[in-house]
Amino acid sequence: MDKEKLWKKITEHIRAQTASDAYKTWFSGVSIQEMSEQKIIICTPSAFIQQNIGPRYLHLIDAAIEQEIHTKPQIEFIVSTKGTKSKNIVEEEVEEEFFQPQTQPVNQSINPKYTMENFVVGLNNNVAYAAAQAVAQNPGTSYNPLFLYGGTGVGKTHLMLGVGNDILKKKPGAKIIYCSSEQFMNDYVSAIQERKTNQLRAKYRSADVLLIDDIQFFSGREGTQEEFFHTFNELQGKNAQIVLTSDRSPHEIAKLEDRLKSRFAGGLMIDIQPPDFDTRVAILKAKSKEWGSEISDESLKLIASSTQSNIRELEGKLRQVIQVLKAQNLEATPENIISFLKISPQKKIDLTHKEVLSAVCSFFNLNPKDLTGPKRQKELVLPRHLTMYILSEELGMTVEKIGQILGGRDHTTVMHGRDKIKNSITNDTETQRLLVELKNTLSAGN
Ligand code: ADP
Ligand code: MG
Repeated sequence: MDKEKLWKKITEHIRAQTASDAYKTWFSGVSIQEMSEQKIIICTPSAFIQQNIGPRYLHLIDAAIEQEIHTKPQIEFIVSTKGTKSKNIVEEEVEEEFFQPQTQPVNQSINPKYTMENFVVGLNNNVAYAAAQAVAQNPGTSYNPLFLYGGTGVGKTHLMLGVGNDILKKKPGAKIIYCSSEQFMNDYVSAIQERKTNQLRAKYRSADVLLIDDIQFFSGREGTQEEFFHTFNELQGKNAQIVLTSDRSPHEIAKLEDRLKSRFAGGLMIDIQPPDFDTRVAILKAKSKEWGSEISDESLKLIASSTQSNIRELEGKLRQVIQVLKAQNLEATPENIISFLKISPQKKIDLTHKEVLSAVCSFFNLNPKDLTGPKRQKELVLPRHLTMYILSEELGMTVEKIGQILGGRDHTTVMHGRDKIKNSITNDTETQRLLVELKNTLSAGN
């Protein structure tokens, strides 16, 4: 994608989530000047916009970029040298209306959007959250390093930056360095090439808090590991806090020096699990509130059922829902959400009815004969209804055919069972959870 096209996309995202006056104020005359995988330079028409657009809109710009090109380049704002000041901007007015003096120096590398306060705590992450809190309260002394690991989009980076932002709040002068492991690696490589290793050391070893993201990429990089080992020792020696994240535990990182593994194990290692259903709903609720969109719990539950493990994806879906419905002037009712989720590109599961039946049986630990047989015990009712629902809604089978498959049941029985699940999906968490988990086992086995 070229930079003009990307900028157009970014502004579409922002426009959909910003009042039109505010959008005009901040984005008229703003353009993209340079773009690479590592860095995007955004050109603004005045120093005032340059200084204030980041704190207000960086999170939206970041999110839009991530959605469009799936990378997280560093964003820099500069003032246009061409003097393309837009007519729409009257600086003094803007200043009156929006400007709040910055109380802290803006720490370039750490995004203020990710805080401990807006991190939703659930069963999947409460231990990690408590540890992060302890670290933020007593940096360098409680757990050093704090090593957070877990799958993609479970909130590792958010929590790590939450620690950084919390420390910064209490101690605005603290030197917090946040970088990805790749950035550390690149810094190291260029320092060697340019014979500037002293500067590199001065930079990293002077940190009060060092946050390194996705440390799994250190795998096999011996020189970088060596440099990091010494940085680590020096920082730990002076009680500077170190927080690391990884997509796996240190033991599972191949080609990572043993001495680093044992250093990591000397602190606190905690995994963050994928969020359960209730946590997903709570996160969606918090995000929709943050973005100023009122969406009912029922609708949020539907969205939460549609994505299981990756919160970034979940957020993306919520953002899309808001944009699409807004563009069509539709309310976020459960019906509209359902039709949105249906049309949005989703993994289509190509299943046979046998696979569904066997998945239901193994999920509920039933004998297949009981599911299709004449027995009417209570514990068979829900599995049968779920089977009817999945065969009808996911496989598109007729109720007559489903009746046959389920041991010659009448089609009205099938309709009744299917509709029962359909109705409870929108208001019964337990059914939603069952359905989501059942569908997970179906797509996993496929
Ligand atoms: P990871 O680093 O594990 O891949 P991130 O920290 O980047 O994941 O999280 C992905 C997105 O999900 C971010 O926008 C983040 O704010 C959001 N997120 C993740 N966990 C939570 C949570 N517990 N509460 C609120 N937002 C969360
Ligand atoms: Mg991350």
